[in-house]
Amino acid sequence: MALERTLSIIKPDAVAKNVIGQITSRFEAAGLKVVAAKLVRLSRAEAEQFYDVHRARPFFKDLVDFMVSGPVMIQVLEGEGAIAKNRDLMGATDPKKAAAGTIRADFADSIDANAVHGSDGPETAAAEVAFFFAGLNVYTR
Ligand code: UDP
Repeated sequence: MALERTLSIIKPDAVAKNVIGQITSRFEAAGLKVVAAKLVRLSRAEAEQFYDVHRARPFFKDLVDFMVSGPVMIQVLEGEGAIAKNRDLMGATDPKKAAAGTIRADFADSIDANAVHGSDGPETAAAEVAFFFAGLNVYTR
């Protein structure tokens, strides 16, 4: 398995619940290393651009409203197979369908306020890391 980097966002609902540490502990326990991080409030333009692929979907405006409703914790996670590993830790998009013990099963309230974002493949991971951390000196061994 290859050493990969993936983008994680702890969304406003989870930040409001004060579980940044509990969620990050799950990444660390699974062997993922935080190599860049920032706690920020997204602008509407940033949220719209980040979720551009969903622009035509009926939930787009509500998704953007939600993502700008409070601060988010954005992290770059590094590890063997980091992209799939993070998706496994997150669980299904809809917390009602998420497997027991996943982040969304334990911390998410609904399909829209679902605690975390994680890149879904190598191309999106590269684009999403560059979107939020362009020019930053990401930690490397
Ligand atoms: N979403 C939503 N309603 C839906 C489907 C998705 O509000 O019916 C939101 C939800 O926050 C989700 C995000 O849009 O995390 C992106 O959707 P995607 O299908 O890419 O799911 P993910 O990759 O986050 O599991």
